[in-house]
Amino acid sequence: MVAGHGQPVWYDLRMQPGHDKLFSFRWDIDHRACITDGLPRIMRVCEEFGVKNTFFINMGRSTNLKEWLSKGGLKGSKAKLKDMEAIHLIKKIGWPRFILETALSRPVGRSLVGSLEKLVRAGHELGQHGGSDHVVWSRRFFELPEEVIAQDVEQSLAEISRLFGTPAGFTSPGFKSDERITRIVARLKYRYDGDAIGGEPHHPSFGQTHARHWRIPVTLCGPRTVPLLEWHGARNTPPSDIIADLRQRLDQSDWVVLYGHPCYEGVKDDLLREVFRAVTDRGFRFVTHEQMAERLYAWPASSGAPFSAPSTGQATLSNATNITSDSSGSGTIGRCSRNGA
Ligand SMILES: [Zn+2]
Repeated sequence: MVAGHGQPVWYDLRMQPGHDKLFSFRWDIDHRACITDGLPRIMRVCEEFGVKNTFFINMGRSTNLKEWLSKGGLKGSKAKLKDMEAIHLIKKIGWPRFILETALSRPVGRSLVGSLEKLVRAGHELGQHGGSDHVVWSRRFFELPEEVIAQDVEQSLAEISRLFGTPAGFTSPGFKSDERITRIVARLKYRYDGDAIGGEPHHPSFGQTHARHWRIPVTLCGPRTVPLLEWHGARNTPPSDIIADLRQRLDQSDWVVLYGHPCYEGVKDDLLREVFRAVTDRGFRFVTHEQMAERLYAWPASSGAPFSAPSTGQATLSNATNITSDSSGSGTIGRCSRNGA
């Protein structure tokens, strides 16, 4: 059988399970600058390479003046600005825009619907990133009651579905996720979530229950939850060394998920081109997360894993110490202080 026109792309993937190398670029759209500054550039690079990427949209706010003031505000930001492993939003968009965005606190996805429609029309995948407030989720996740999170997620899901079509995937802001999120994701029937760094795709669990949906981890990352390319950027790694490091990491697996933020990696379109070139040179095929998920659903459990990821997910991480994947495979994520993920 041959996949013909009009057939979903994953149909083609099912025809050759386990024999090709798959790469997916995951973008978390946290801020309005991700859409205004990053998306047009990423879309152009994708078009040049003839590939599709996966984007997770924060429909709600990404800045929250009240939270900023209550958590030390300027003092906290100064500490983050000195972080040698990550790049703060202020460095990404500059103080004037940071102040403006914080003061206006406009919802991200909700205020830029036209650009997202364009993204979807171009064939990229659009999933959901959290609920109505990225800052509150990132900073106070463990204090929030499950029913509050559930209602918030459900409202954003309804909004995304109405505007762009039902999203297949869900990711939590800052990788702040636990059994409550797994339960919510299962109940709302997403096809997959992306709430893990390292390890292999698996069915996460809540209580004694294994969820039906898949968890697709980020496989290449810097320390904590800092994206690999941003981490290199914070250390001023020369672009040629970044690509050399990437090539080396790519060679360790045939199932790779790299992640970033359009307001940082997306703006560096020359580097992005080099990254895409390295990925295709190493024989990888670009797929969306939804296509990866469909591959997982299609692969019979009796045939073993439909991918070859490193046996320990952390092997591809650099100094990732506070992210844990428990033995039950629920892949819950520890606390992290950064609010940019
Ligand atoms: Zn985020």
